[in-house]
Amino acid sequence: MSIQENVSLKPYNTFGVEVSARYFSEVNSAKELLESLQFSNTQALPILFLGGGSNILLTKDFDGLVIRLNLKGITEKIIDDNQVLVTAKAGENWHQLVMYCLDKNYGGLENLSLIPGNVGTSPMQNIGAYGTEIKDVFESCKVLNLETLELETLNSGQCQFGYRDSIFKQAGKGKYVILEVTFRLNRKDHKIDVEYGAIQSELAKMGISNPTIQDVSKAVINIRQSKLPDPKVIGNAGSFFKNPTISASQFENLKQNFENIPGYPNGDFVKVPAGWLIEQAGWKGKKIGNVASNQLQALVIINATGNATGQEIFDFSTMIIDSVKEKFGIELEREVNII
Ligand SMILES: Cc1cc2nc3c(=O)[nH]c(=O)nc-3n(C[C@H](O)[C@H](O)[C@H](O)COP(=O)(O)OP(=O)(O)OC[C@H]3O[C@@H](n4cnc5c(N)ncnc54)[C@H](O)[C@@H]3O)c2cc1C
Repeated sequence: MSIQENVSLKPYNTFGVEVSARYFSEVNSAKELLESLQFSNTQALPILFLGGGSNILLTKDFDGLVIRLNLKGITEKIIDDNQVLVTAKAGENWHQLVMYCLDKNYGGLENLSLIPGNVGTSPMQNIGAYGTEIKDVFESCKVLNLETLELETLNSGQCQFGYRDSIFKQAGKGKYVILEVTFRLNRKDHKIDVEYGAIQSELAKMGISNPTIQDVSKAVINIRQSKLPDPKVIGNAGSFFKNPTISASQFENLKQNFENIPGYPNGDFVKVPAGWLIEQAGWKGKKIGNVASNQLQALVIINATGNATGQEIFDFSTMIIDSVKEKFGIELEREVNII
């Protein structure tokens, strides 16, 4: 393991923002991770862990040690006729894990096809798409407790998963580094989840009426490729904001003024699509300087010229928050981690 100095982080974040790290190390094993941690400890440096860099906005140079987790390996344990536990190390690419499981006909991850990033980060915000979240198939994760330097195994309850949320973004923020994640998947009794309307219409377009998990994955990939900008082509971090949840009474009040406002009831609350709010506030496709809201999906903020700074993107997101608040009285929350 080598620790480099003054390294550009542009290739390591999907916004393609140019900032530098005072120190940078890429770790391939637990031993290298411990060596890096020792280095940061002796120099009293702050640490930033990096996976695929697809859920961060780097707003300034990082005056500490960036540790890129590159731990690799996938193992499996057959539990019975139907169930299998698949464990992947933190540095495995998420979509490649999904493809690995589909190749073996292990069901459970197919709706989460093509989400960028690494396996080790997937529990951070309980990644989700098209009606599925990892909490639905999560068994446990192995973490290094940075306070005690002990290894711990956390189950689903201990991870406190919520909508794009977990203990790793709350009470455990900065306390753990996730080393590997285990999923409980089905070998044969596959639960085909095509509740999400767009999947049904895509499958119909594909001429499939009795889909397999592989078909569902293909449909999800098609939808994602048609709707979301490819970060390799245009810098972005996917949905920039969470969909807000408001009280049923606030929703009813809003309906008086905005009769078409969409809402998905959730107990006493209603989830409102942030993309709709942003679009109605006039931001869809709008560009200011180097930053824009995506033409096809207003929820995605893009580095339109490739030259945006993290601060410009952050300021653009603040303008959206202010304008949605003014129009609807709803405060949007950023999904992307601001560094
Ligand atoms: C085009 C596009 C589409 C997307 N679509 C979706 C979607 O449908 N659903 C969804 O949920 N997300 C989506 N995302 C967001 C993103 O892909 C996920 O949040 C992904 O899990 C981030 O993984 P990463 O490895 O890139 O994380 P990074 O950006 O590298 O890291 C995110 C945060 O986790 C910390 N971190 C990284 N690794 C570890 C670790 N091993 N232990 C502890 N902390 C760590 C980092 O310090 C940072 O704070 C999308 C992003 C893009 C660009």
